[in-house]
Amino acid sequence: MAEASNFIEQIIDEDLAAGKVTAIQTRFPPEPNGYLHIGHAKSMFVNFGTAEKYGGKCNLFFDDTNPSKEKTEFVDAIKRDIRFLGYEWARECYASDFFDKIYEFAEKLILDGKAFVCDLSAEEIKATRGTLTEPGQESPYRNRTAEENLRLFREMRDGKYADGEKCLRAKIDMSSPNLNLRDPVIYRILHATHHRTGDKWCIYPMYDYAHPICDYLQGVTHSLCTLEFEDHRPLYDWVGINLGFSPKPRQIEFARLNVTNLVMSKRYLKKLVEDGSVHGWDDPRMPTLAGLKNRGIPAEAIRDFCARIGVAKANSECEIGYFEAVVRDYLNARAPRAMAVVDPLKLTITNYTGEEEVDFEINQTQEGTGTRKVKFSGSLYIEKSDFSLDPPPKYYRLKIGGAVRLKNAYIVVCDEAVKDETGEIVEVKCHYIPTSRSGSDTSGVKAKGVIHWVEATSCKDVTIKQYDHLLRDADFPGQDFSERMNKDSEHLFRGKAEPYLAEAKEDEAFQLMRTGYYKKCTENGGLVLSEIVSLKDNFNK
Ligand code: ATP
Ligand code: MG
Repeated sequence: MAEASNFIEQIIDEDLAAGKVTAIQTRFPPEPNGYLHIGHAKSMFVNFGTAEKYGGKCNLFFDDTNPSKEKTEFVDAIKRDIRFLGYEWARECYASDFFDKIYEFAEKLILDGKAFVCDLSAEEIKATRGTLTEPGQESPYRNRTAEENLRLFREMRDGKYADGEKCLRAKIDMSSPNLNLRDPVIYRILHATHHRTGDKWCIYPMYDYAHPICDYLQGVTHSLCTLEFEDHRPLYDWVGINLGFSPKPRQIEFARLNVTNLVMSKRYLKKLVEDGSVHGWDDPRMPTLAGLKNRGIPAEAIRDFCARIGVAKANSECEIGYFEAVVRDYLNARAPRAMAVVDPLKLTITNYTGEEEVDFEINQTQEGTGTRKVKFSGSLYIEKSDFSLDPPPKYYRLKIGGAVRLKNAYIVVCDEAVKDETGEIVEVKCHYIPTSRSGSDTSGVKAKGVIHWVEATSCKDVTIKQYDHLLRDADFPGQDFSERMNKDSEHLFRGKAEPYLAEAKEDEAFQLMRTGYYKKCTENGGLVLSEIVSLKDNFNK
């Protein structure tokens, strides 16, 4: 067995050594009320990854105890996204598969005198719950007999009462220092149609009560969840102990993934989709897995990120720049290099006639990927930002009288900038140094700058899409998401690209030299290069 790489694995090792468990089983428990996001990728990494490491199983468990918000559309999207990340579940199940059993267990608690039907309203229950420093008050309905409770609970199930008129509460301890143990509600009345059970039920179990039962019935040995459930663990254990579960599943909490500049609440992501701030759940700016996939971020890079940030017990925030650095590392080693200009400026070499081919390394980080031929002529495009009429000191790109190397080709010297009637520069005229060809330069001319280019007669028009984060940096801790929304986070450019990119496979990732990693796609018949991650490294190591 490999050594434990985090505290969860240490606990599992101890449980195995003590003979408490023999085979490991976990579950990934999304609620089908939205799309999965990168935070869920961490949860999957922990749940699927731990099971895998121990040769165990991980189920996909849909927590559908909240019928009003759940939809089959989300179930399908969640399954697609899990597969995209490369995980396979042992069994697909739903809390609703277990509703009959969960109900039977509630009757058992009632008969054992451990649950009672309460007539207090939700507000009254809240008001009598007490505080961290004061105990709560016992419900006047707490001492109903088991027979009466059973009759009332069955009437609740049979639809005799309106929403909120009654509920079932566990009978634990109104003066417990843990508020979750102060006679928590375990069943509520809700006349709502469920996405799987339809109108069969008008009472629904509460999450804290249903979850340990579902874990047990699936054979889960270790129920791995995020830290906000730590205070709920005593209730999780109470349910298991009082229903006599053996072996009782064990809940272990780990820290949520938080990333700067990313919204990670399904509720808020849903709002962005619904109010049209983004094009959909899979908008490339969204931190959803569907969005990341559409952005062109490889699943392996997401898993690698989860592995690198590790599993800890304390919450912290990860810099978005770190995520981007991981993606960049991944693509750097794999993406072929190519050239495109985002904001083209015509460059004419006045003393060059004809055409030739120059060699480009496909990916210099990978031995054996070789080179390819790129057409070169006297008619090119360069980036508008690579020429300056009024250059600052130490400007090494193109300027009047200055020399610059055209990547993998020749050194050119700029003679003239041509303006249109509005005064805008529309073309630069240069001469080239014939003896300066890359690889066989005997010219002795020094050019400090190297710029990329595309050949004008063969290039393709391309729409280039670049993105900013949906959320601007926070001005102060805890600033509301809505105040941080970046309304201008998608930028479109009309650029020029090598024909090589037009011929590439759909969705293939490239490093556009000096610009970033882009995914090639086709939209309405036109070539599009969509930014995956820029080359600029903002991560402060
Ligand atoms: P949200 O607040 O975004 O709706 P959630 O916790 O309600 O998230 P669930 O569908 O209930 O979403 O989550 C499924 C599993 O994923 C849970 O075990 C939850 O703890 C875990 N999870 C959700 N967000 C994160 C996160 N940011 N980091 C790690 N795990 C997460
Ligand atoms: Mg949830």
